[in-house]
Amino acid sequence: MKIGLEVHVALPTKTKLFCSDSTSETREPNSQICPICVGFPGSRPVLNEEAVRVAKSIAIALNCRVREDISFIRKVYFYPDLPKSFQITQLSESIGSDGFLELEKKRVGIRRIQIEEDPARIIREEGYTLLDFNRSGIPLVEIVTEPDITTEEELREMVFTLRTILHYQGVDVNQEVKTDLNISLAEERVEIKNVTGIKNLIAAAQYEITRQGAIIKKGGVPEKETRSFDAASGTTKTSRKKESEEEYGFIYEPDLTVYDTKNLSENAMRIPTKIAMGLAVKHKANYSTILELIAFDTGALNLINEFEEEFDFKTIIASLEIMKRFGEPANSGVFKEILGLTDQKIDITRDVLKKIKAGDKVEIKKFSEPQIDETIREMLNSDKTIVEKYKKNKNVVNFIVGTISKKYGIQPRDAAARVEGVINKL
Ligand SMILES: [Zn+2]
Repeated sequence: MKIGLEVHVALPTKTKLFCSDSTSETREPNSQICPICVGFPGSRPVLNEEAVRVAKSIAIALNCRVREDISFIRKVYFYPDLPKSFQITQLSESIGSDGFLELEKKRVGIRRIQIEEDPARIIREEGYTLLDFNRSGIPLVEIVTEPDITTEEELREMVFTLRTILHYQGVDVNQEVKTDLNISLAEERVEIKNVTGIKNLIAAAQYEITRQGAIIKKGGVPEKETRSFDAASGTTKTSRKKESEEEYGFIYEPDLTVYDTKNLSENAMRIPTKIAMGLAVKHKANYSTILELIAFDTGALNLINEFEEEFDFKTIIASLEIMKRFGEPANSGVFKEILGLTDQKIDITRDVLKKIKAGDKVEIKKFSEPQIDETIREMLNSDKTIVEKYKKNKNVVNFIVGTISKKYGIQPRDAAARVEGVINKL
């Protein structure tokens, strides 16, 4: 199986790609438009340098070759969301090419990263088709991967990693990402156009894997075609067969000159996958755990950096996991407290967190280790067969671990270690 993606994301700029209209969300349709983004004859696009700068940063973050002289083309087609009949985009002279995205066990090639304008939003309502040009001219990057993804697991990891990297470049990863998905279980490639959102992307892939798999099982061959995804039913259906494959006209955009990207300063290159790998190696810790903690929360990374020298790395990670479990954002101000308590092996419950947030003092009941061990010995003595059983199945002491953990307010894994210690000394 081979899967390749074309992912479209909006760039975090204040104004549109070729005019000075705002990109901010507004409920009033067609309130942020001008002759350029609506495509009036005679209007001239002016390139938004900030959009190119961010696109260049993304290209670098995805290990691409960055082009110094970029230019634009017109992709000519007729559709109501594009009254000027062409979309300004890039093809061979795009901002980035030949990159890759590092997954835990493989690299997924990035064929191309191009800058383009979003068309208008089409709203179909009660037999009418409405057009909102506020979206028209919003700067996008299209990221085209090589068909290197071979399992559903890899697809998930790829999407997660890509979103993480984009987040660190300032892209709003909560936006609805639009993706075209190429997927082939046999020779011919099937394309699923315009899948909106990550959940739908995975669902569309799952459906296609099953559908094409069933055809092959029956001795058939999946046809080359373009399909569309229906989110309501979770299925894909044919929209174009190969004999009517679309053909766009491409011509150079004469209203924009060749643009020099050399002197555009890129964003600071904080690449979460590299940072997580660095930390994992340095502290002999788990890469995926670290990446998941810092993925969409740059604040978590700042906390790691702040406390890395002072505290044990395992304690820092455990504390961040506690924050995540309780939905506490990194910047909520309770981390230092949680870290301190975790370091003293105090179990952070919801009640403890409540006290911390209210500014109350968390009382630390200190018990001496011999005292805890004595309780364990007493419990073991109450059933003479338990130590024998323990050699075959460690779970038989679960009730002791639970009791100890609750009674002395220590974490279950620490309680388990104490129980094991006592048994070994018997
Ligand atoms: Zn405009």
